[in-house]
Amino acid sequence: MFNRRKFIKLSAAGASVAALSRTGFAAAKPLAGQSSLPVVISTWDFGVPANKAAWEILKKGGRAIDAVEAGARIPEADLNNHSVGRAGYPDRDGHVTLDACIMDESGNCGAVAAMEDIDHPISVARLVMEKTPHVLLVGDGARQFAVEHGFKAQKLLTPESEKAWKEWLKTAKYEPVINIENKSYKRGSEYNHDTIGMLALDAKGNISGACTTSGMAWKLHGRVGDSPIIGAGLYVDNEVGGATSTGVGEEVIRNVGSFLVVELMRQGRSPQEACEEAVHRIIKKKPETAKQIQVGFLAINKKGEYGAYAIQTGFTYAVCDSEKQDKLFKGESFYK
Ligand code: ASP
Repeated sequence: MFNRRKFIKLSAAGASVAALSRTGFAAAKPLAGQSSLPVVISTWDFGVPANKAAWEILKKGGRAIDAVEAGARIPEADLNNHSVGRAGYPDRDGHVTLDACIMDESGNCGAVAAMEDIDHPISVARLVMEKTPHVLLVGDGARQFAVEHGFKAQKLLTPESEKAWKEWLKTAKYEPVINIENKSYKRGSEYNHDTIGMLALDAKGNISGACTTSGMAWKLHGRVGDSPIIGAGLYVDNEVGGATSTGVGEEVIRNVGSFLVVELMRQGRSPQEACEEAVHRIIKKKPETAKQIQVGFLAINKKGEYGAYAIQTGFTYAVCDSEKQDKLFKGESFYK
């Protein structure tokens, strides 16, 4: 339901509300949560098994960068997950094209976009980071680089994904519709598109992040969303914390979402406040579009405080530290 009170607050007094909280006059927004280190947090319910894999590394004193790569590989390999990795829904021409990026505590980063035939884009992104002078490889170049580094090229389109694509073709008039997945905000529903964004702080307090997706179902061939774009789908800064996003990537790119969240935390906002402000920016700039789309942000700071906020209801995130194991939480949202 549209929250009129909130909208007025945003459009008329948004700036002064922000100024108040910055100068400390307004009561601080409660944190979504506090964790102990090490910790790993991820978007959506498939973040739970992903966190588990990351935790295996973190609990032994392993590095955050190793944890987020291992974690992101779990949904990438899951044949029941049609929005990340191997079994992702294809574009409108029937090609499964995958996007991923990774970033470590020293600001090193790597990414691949619109890559076909390779089932673990997050690991290719890591190799781009470690073995090349570049940040982002796309399309055939990314595929070629992966094969040269020992990845097996294989057709990714699963029978289930192909069936869903053929159903879509019957009625879609070959037109990608940006919000077709918003027939329902529930993950796993027909035409849904989601991403795993993962942030980990290891026992030394170093932060890393990973983000991987098959992007929007039935997108134009060659479309790239926010997920492999450093600063949009993911950003970490070892002085401050990290942020990641999920939802309609075009709006996240337009607002450089994850970088914005991290910079707001640098200015003193809590992760919760920073996520809320980033969502509010998207809504303020395009109120009509925002009513129809989902975008969610997840963030953590160096103290292990975390926050999450989305435009629409239904956004969930998973947290795993020494006390909270396999925990899934509901993110707050602008529309209720
Ligand atoms: N952000 C992703 C994209 O736009 C998809 C998603 O998270 O739903 O490609």
